[in-house]
Amino acid sequence: MTDSSKIIDGKAFAEGLRARVATLAAAFERAAGRKAGLAVVLVGEDPASQVYVRSKGKQTVACGMASFEHKLPEDTTQEALLALVRRLNEDATVDGILVQLPLPRHLDEQAVVEAISPAKDVDGLTPVSTGRLALGLPGLVPCTPLGSLMLLKDRLGSLSGLDAVVIGRSILVGKPMAQLLLSESCTVTIAHSRTKNLADVVRRADIVVAAVGRAEMVKGDWLKPGATVIDVGINRVPALDAVAAAERKTRLVGDVDFASAVAVAGAITPVPGGVGPMTIAVLLRNALVAAHANAGIALGADAI
Ligand code: NDP
Repeated sequence: MTDSSKIIDGKAFAEGLRARVATLAAAFERAAGRKAGLAVVLVGEDPASQVYVRSKGKQTVACGMASFEHKLPEDTTQEALLALVRRLNEDATVDGILVQLPLPRHLDEQAVVEAISPAKDVDGLTPVSTGRLALGLPGLVPCTPLGSLMLLKDRLGSLSGLDAVVIGRSILVGKPMAQLLLSESCTVTIAHSRTKNLADVVRRADIVVAAVGRAEMVKGDWLKPGATVIDVGINRVPALDAVAAAERKTRLVGDVDFASAVAVAGAITPVPGGVGPMTIAVLLRNALVAAHANAGIALGADAI
């Protein structure tokens, strides 16, 4: 049986974070005379993106912020999308802009991200935000790695001096995760598809962050006993039950083989219920941080 004290409950932590955001959003509304506002732009009909966008909108409103959803057709032109982003940049009721990725292939994702005002960059993906993170300056940080860091600090307290291995080097997760761990004075290794002897690299780590996109790749015998494991992966695989699998039913698993890893790890995030719920909660947190900065209202450095 799994030792439940090893499980890092991201769902519960995210609930607490959303409650803190809601309290501060109410205080912001009283101080600013308007709600903090988050605009989400969705282009096309991708079903997963539609689910995310609906969930983001609902949770934004539940936290007492204004949600502006812009749904554009699949054949939207680059010019039309850029014009919308520029309008949202100028709109004083919008504090945060999120363009749901991936965009349809005919659109230039990088150019669209770069058009977002850094002051409203709640996804933390513009060159200004990524540059500020690299320089160790305050700024908006990508939601999934920031949520992962929050879970780590909540579980471990100070991370100073710990050996951390981040598997994955994407702009969205791996690279900002490594920067954040470095800013907490971890000794950081970034592993990727060309890394040699990955299991040996991972075995050195006190902290393992898996952001690979390969179902159950990291095995328990890759881990140092007692390591803290953050599983960012979200992979859909056939259901375990043969009948359900034949009916094409699926289940979600992470990039870590939970069953073998939980026996060796000191603490681990489950999938689902670990990092996943943190991403939207941190998005709301980022929108509120941006709202305070945009309205010139102070927010204590550690308020949320
Ligand atoms: P990407 O596909 O952009 O990056 C994957 C990274 O993993 C790359 O750097 C790649 O290396 C590396 N990699 C691939 N195969 C291997 C391998 N065999 N060994 C070592 N490294 C490997 O994915 P993302 O960073 O966007 O996402 C990673 C995972 O996190 C996915 O499962 C995604 O669904 C999930 N995710 C979850 C979120 C959440 O809210 N919980 C949010 C965002 C993502 P290389 O650079 O060399 O190609």
